Amino acid sequence: MKIAIFGGGIAGLTAAIHLLDKGYEVDLYEKRSVLGGKVSVWKDSDGDSIESGLHVVFGGYKELQSMLKKIGAEKHFEWKDLSLVYAEKGGRQTRFEKVQGLPSPVAELVGGLKTNVITWRDKLSLVRGLLPLLLFGNEGYFRSQDDLTYSDWHARHGCTDNSLQRLWRPISLALNFIEPNVISARPMVTIFNYFGRNYEDARFGFFKANPGESMIAPMKTYIEERGGKIFTNARLKEFILNDNETIQSIALGDGRFVEADAYISALPVHSLKKLIPKAWLAHEYFYNLFHFVGSPVANCQLWFDKKITDTNNLMFAHGTTFATFADVSITCPQDFQAGQGTATGGSVLSLVLAPAHHLMHLPNEVITARVMEELKTIFPKAREAKLLKSTIVKIPESVYKAVPGVDKFRPDQASPIENFFLCGDYTYQKYLASMEGAALSGRHVAEKLSAKLKHHAHTPAETV
Ligand SMILES: Cc1cc2nc3c(=O)[nH]c(=O)nc-3n(C[C@H](O)[C@H](O)[C@H](O)COP(=O)(O)OP(=O)(O)OC[C@H]3O[C@@H](n4cnc5c(N)ncnc54)[C@H](O)[C@@H]3O)c2cc1C
Repeated sequence: MKIAIFGGGIAGLTAAIHLLDKGYEVDLYEKRSVLGGKVSVWKDSDGDSIESGLHVVFGGYKELQSMLKKIGAEKHFEWKDLSLVYAEKGGRQTRFEKVQGLPSPVAELVGGLKTNVITWRDKLSLVRGLLPLLLFGNEGYFRSQDDLTYSDWHARHGCTDNSLQRLWRPISLALNFIEPNVISARPMVTIFNYFGRNYEDARFGFFKANPGESMIAPMKTYIEERGGKIFTNARLKEFILNDNETIQSIALGDGRFVEADAYISALPVHSLKKLIPKAWLAHEYFYNLFHFVGSPVANCQLWFDKKITDTNNLMFAHGTTFATFADVSITCPQDFQAGQGTATGGSVLSLVLAPAHHLMHLPNEVITARVMEELKTIFPKAREAKLLKSTIVKIPESVYKAVPGVDKFRPDQASPIENFFLCGDYTYQKYLASMEGAALSGRHVAEKLSAKLKHHAHTPAETV
């Protein structure tokens, strides 16, 4: 049986891996020349790795880690100390750390009480507000919180506004690139549950080189070694339908046609929306995809001639254009090192700029100048360092905005069209749009497709 997958991000590549393991023939078509979608990385003319976005692996990403193990890439990332590091003005850093050796949630409570990010009043309000969640929260409860914004949830649970602004706003911006008064409470309380329940699950891991070399390249190798075919510069242009609305073939942008036993879209939802045949919109399933809107985000990379920080971890900032960032010359020991491209041994910062709706049409020089001014207030050493190079990647529609009410519209991987399936971080699985969510959706689609095809193979023809 031949399966055609469209979209070469984590979801499409993971689906290909699982389908090949189940014995299917797989062809994957990716629009761009580079694989990886939102985690794609490419070399520019200076030989520097340009990332679509700074990416960290959470300890709780069990599916992604098991996929990395399957493809022999489980050692391609490394864990950092469990700590939320907040970069403050004047070079100061404040931390939120769990206390090792104590059981959860005591470890988080004691760690939270010790932190100097917020005041004692804030801390006590958080203990009162978050403790029931840490003790009794479950998947059903998280999903039920999707009708509130996180700010509303925070206030309703008696937590202070200062703790929202200082501690959780940078997390909300890092998670979904939107403000806490826009994001649904559901993803935020899910994350607290992570951080508050299990020590291992809350760790941050960085790819040793970058997501492209450390993860996407071994995924490609795994697929090709098992006979899967990957076509880049191959854009899904149009679905050609049979009279019964099933897919007859797919037209590619270059004039070719693809025929298969089943078809999977691993496109981002905003791209799929533009291609859905009108006939399918009578199904609620497809109509509901129009509830999803992409979050704008930008990633800025800066090369310095000197080290401006020695922090080997993800950092958060508040009141700045960037919400979260890292010195990848320190966190990623196999890339961004002296002698590689522009790097001379100084810091190489990768910064996620959010919220970013207002940045999309601003000239890059203006954005970079602002980021530099802010960095100088956070890292005094940046005042002495020379900026060697800067780049900005803007993504006007990245992950879907996890606003209240949208979670219920996330589609199952099996569509009402007999030979058409969906995967992608926005499809239904327990995580927010993320690498883990994309990997989970890839496994789910392989299982659902396989179950459906097997069922048909065993059903007598006259009853089909
Ligand atoms: C700046 C940034 C930082 C992030 N940081 C993190 C992080 O730290 N941790 C984390 O877990 N997640 C993070 N994410 C989210 C994560 O990158 C995504 O959730 C995940 O990569 C989505 O994978 P996907 O396969 O579902 O979609 P995508 O990666 O969007 O892949 C879809 C693919 O489909 C292709 N395509 C589009 N149209 C067509 C067409 N017509 N024909 C063929 N192909 C097509 C695209 O080119 C793309 O390759 C971040 C995202 C961004 C933007």
